[in-house]
Amino acid sequence: MTPKRSIIPIFVPHLGCPHDCVFCNQRRISGESEPATAEKTVEIIEEALSFLPRDTDKTVAFYGGSFTAVEKEMQEELLGAVQPYILSGKIGDIRLSTRPDAIDEDVTARLKRFNVRTVELGIQSLDEEVLLLSKRGHTAQCAERAAKLVKEAGFELILQMMTGLPGDTPQKSVATARRFCELKPDGVRIYPTVVVKDTELFEMWRSGEYREHSVKEAVELGADLLDIFEKAGITVVRFGLNPTEDLSGGDAAGGAYHPALRELAENVRYLRAEKKLVSDSDRGKTLRFIVPRGRTSQAVGQKRANIEALKGEFGIKNAVFIESDEINNPCNIRREYV
Ligand code: SF4
Repeated sequence: MTPKRSIIPIFVPHLGCPHDCVFCNQRRISGESEPATAEKTVEIIEEALSFLPRDTDKTVAFYGGSFTAVEKEMQEELLGAVQPYILSGKIGDIRLSTRPDAIDEDVTARLKRFNVRTVELGIQSLDEEVLLLSKRGHTAQCAERAAKLVKEAGFELILQMMTGLPGDTPQKSVATARRFCELKPDGVRIYPTVVVKDTELFEMWRSGEYREHSVKEAVELGADLLDIFEKAGITVVRFGLNPTEDLSGGDAAGGAYHPALRELAENVRYLRAEKKLVSDSDRGKTLRFIVPRGRTSQAVGQKRANIEALKGEFGIKNAVFIESDEINNPCNIRREYV
């Protein structure tokens, strides 16, 4: 059995980032405003080690800013603070997130030296117009080159994409996802756009220049993207922004913010699969579906929305779900005829 992995997150809000992507307010998104230091890194690690179980693999994760865009000395200071823990075996490895234009051969060599295992690249879109309108400051070509460099240097590669950015369309998001599959990442994060206060996007939204990406749009498109990545054998490690008190308390002013966004997208995937197994001749019947263990709530939908949708569209009387270990593909389902 693979041992459990614990992540020790250290946020480096906006540290070193020379850009101002229209959607970004790292402090409000991460809930942190203080830049990380070597002392703070050690403090966070010590605190985490005091309560994390000894038998888990532990990863220190520098998230939030553009790590490799930070001055070299600062990168080495932060990475250096973790090294004694790696050498003593208390920490297994390091992961960090960065921008595509802050990756080159020198950078990958440095990260190797400091025992970084995973590099996450915030690519957000591979459509030039979307990148431009979102003020990302890099091209799609630059993003693809960075992904290849990271892969070739032997790191685990995680790619991040967003949906619903200015100038974006579902077709563009699907094209980005398909291209991601060709780049063969070890995992993907999908962040439907949230309108966060104190960002340029917030002003664009208020002035009507930007139409928000609704939760409904995000979960419908998300269901398509989850299908694409699942078929390609690529894990979607996250779908939707991590809920924080600040975001839930009003900083997420609009857009696709929902604490259970992934669950909603999985519900949509199930409803689509269920519809394929039902026809008009099922009117008045109670249907039995077999789903993988632990998936009943996704198959039923929030507040039984999927069952209600099947009742409305096909006139069925009810639907019951039976869990089985026989089906282990997460969104697989079959119908049992009695
Ligand atoms: S590159 Fe990242 S940290 Fe910098 S502004 Fe854009 S999203 Fe924010």
